[in-house]
Amino acid sequence: MQVHWRSIHAAQNSYAALSAACEQEGYLLLPTDRPLPDVTCYSINSINASQYRDEIATAGCITIVGGPHATAYPRETAEYADFVVTGEGEFTLPRLLAQIEAGRDGKIPGVATGNYYEPADTCVRLNAYPAFSRRQGYVEISRGCPFSCGYCQTPQIFGNCMRHRSLDAIASCANRYEHARFVSPNAFAYGSDGMHPRWEKIEHLFRKLKNRIYFGTFPSEVRPEFVCEESLSLITRYCTNTKLHFGAQSGSNAVLERLGRGHTVDDVIHAVELCHEFSITPVVDFIVGLPFETDEDQKKTLDLLQWVARSGKVHVHRFLPLPGTRLAGTNARALLPETEKICGKLAYSGKLTGSWNDPEIRFFRRPSNDIP
Ligand code: SF4
Repeated sequence: MQVHWRSIHAAQNSYAALSAACEQEGYLLLPTDRPLPDVTCYSINSINASQYRDEIATAGCITIVGGPHATAYPRETAEYADFVVTGEGEFTLPRLLAQIEAGRDGKIPGVATGNYYEPADTCVRLNAYPAFSRRQGYVEISRGCPFSCGYCQTPQIFGNCMRHRSLDAIASCANRYEHARFVSPNAFAYGSDGMHPRWEKIEHLFRKLKNRIYFGTFPSEVRPEFVCEESLSLITRYCTNTKLHFGAQSGSNAVLERLGRGHTVDDVIHAVELCHEFSITPVVDFIVGLPFETDEDQKKTLDLLQWVARSGKVHVHRFLPLPGTRLAGTNARALLPETEKICGKLAYSGKLTGSWNDPEIRFFRRPSNDIP
């Protein structure tokens, strides 16, 4: 049976991870730019779902669709796809391919079709699958997040319990290349429960790596309250990156509280100041236009991002209500004229990236200068 993977830029790392998992079970995922028999797999998000919907619906082959959008809307996606894989695909996708190849019927947990939806009853042990195989990707070191920020799909897809890849499993993938880059919801939480850092685990990881390490930069950003003397000392001693990327999201404590961020504005200020003490450039994420943000809240965000931009960099992005999140179904509020003006000036001077008017960049694309 020939199995293809529809090439979609935003899903490159999913391709690397899933092709490694499928290869273990004897299925090669061949890249394609159109649907081809016998099977073509897609991973779609909420921005590009409409772009691929007709292609999937009219494909002359069996289609399997996964990714954040399919996970949030399995039944709706099953109206135009033959099979939908929800959540993590490493275990479910090869199992589904084997069933299709054998011509068998039967419900598979984590799969939806036009006839049934069976929620997944397992979660993936990262060590059971290589981070990538023939196709290089970032090494996913941790999965799941104990926080539940109102705009974020990560806990919906991967759960609230943090799981980690072992040191040896990480090193065996990462050491194959000159640069080691990682995927994590919070790189400084490696080896921990996601709330209480284990710096010794991160130091063990760094000691296992034989190449140039990029840690705490996209796509392994960190949380601001994990930025401290221990973590920055590890970065300066072992890593190549001279930038550290973390999320502030708002300059208003009231907004942070409603988002459920689990940190305060003071945590962000402290993190930025500490970065400067260690000669590290802070790159700080902000979201503007959150639905419950008052004019006053937005001005506080503007003040904080201008302060950060004086000596660091900011990513400013327009709020996008993603399906499956607590803020799904809400609308982004309008931006104040001064928000537009100041963000424009900062972008022009090279201090600001992202897009305060185009949510697509915040959630699904990153400008190439994200990587230091
Ligand atoms: S934004 Fe980060 S900390 Fe918040 S839920 Fe998502 S992954 Fe977790």
